[in-house]
Amino acid sequence: MKNVERLRVLNAPVDVLTMNKAIDCACELAKDHSNISYIVAVNPEKTYAMKESEVIRDFIEKADLVIPDGIGIVFGAKMLCNRRLERVAGADLMQEICRVSGEQNLKIFIYGAKEEVNAGAVQKLQERHSNIQIVGRANGFVKAENMNELVERINASQADILFLALGSPKQENWMNEYGPKLNVGACMGIGGTLDTIVGTVKRAPDFYQKIHLEWFYRLAKQPSRFWRQRRVFFFGFAVLAAKIKKITMCHRQENE
Ligand code: UDP
Repeated sequence: MKNVERLRVLNAPVDVLTMNKAIDCACELAKDHSNISYIVAVNPEKTYAMKESEVIRDFIEKADLVIPDGIGIVFGAKMLCNRRLERVAGADLMQEICRVSGEQNLKIFIYGAKEEVNAGAVQKLQERHSNIQIVGRANGFVKAENMNELVERINASQADILFLALGSPKQENWMNEYGPKLNVGACMGIGGTLDTIVGTVKRAPDFYQKIHLEWFYRLAKQPSRFWRQRRVFFFGFAVLAAKIKKITMCHRQENE
């Protein structure tokens, strides 16, 4: 995205954004249908997914907007790039885009999550924002043989932005495969955001968000996520190791 600085935190790109800037950029990308743009939320888990999958790595590298979703990324940017980033959570950005979509005249398609969650989230968003235009929706369990039909439905809806709630890395793989067939302006992966809108999954209370322990709250509520979230710790160690290496190299250069 033009006029947005991109940093690298370990192996991951991340854009220097505030929430307001991210909303403006997302709306601008959504309105431009000349080619599809991808909005990706990057967090420690995704940096590992980038290492494990070339598809995910290439996809995130070419994303038009990479938002600093995880506090680990904010910490990494401070430690390694000496930059203080504002955390822009994907779940918050999605809801902010919905909030401004009426005045911005943006049409929305929501694909992903269980049928009742998808339908419930659409209803909740329509109750919250009287002028929102949700022009289509589909649950996240469409069979592979019906995928082209779904793509046709999305295109026929003339949506400007597609929110994809399939979880990671499924949603990145989906965008990579089907994105080039879409006529939408922008496509954004939103993971489990629809579950939090409906309330089947609770987001951390403000207290945990303020002290940057949202990930810990989520882990305590869903211990089954431990295997995935162990990467938050690995990421923290990798950042510290990179910082120590950087300091050691600086000292060595000074002494030469
Ligand atoms: N999901 C889906 N289709 C699938 C697998 C998962 O729609 O084939 C949905 C699932 O119902 C849930 C979301 O994807 O709503 C995954 O949420 P999770 O919190 O795991 O995603 P994350 O934000 O951690 O990437």
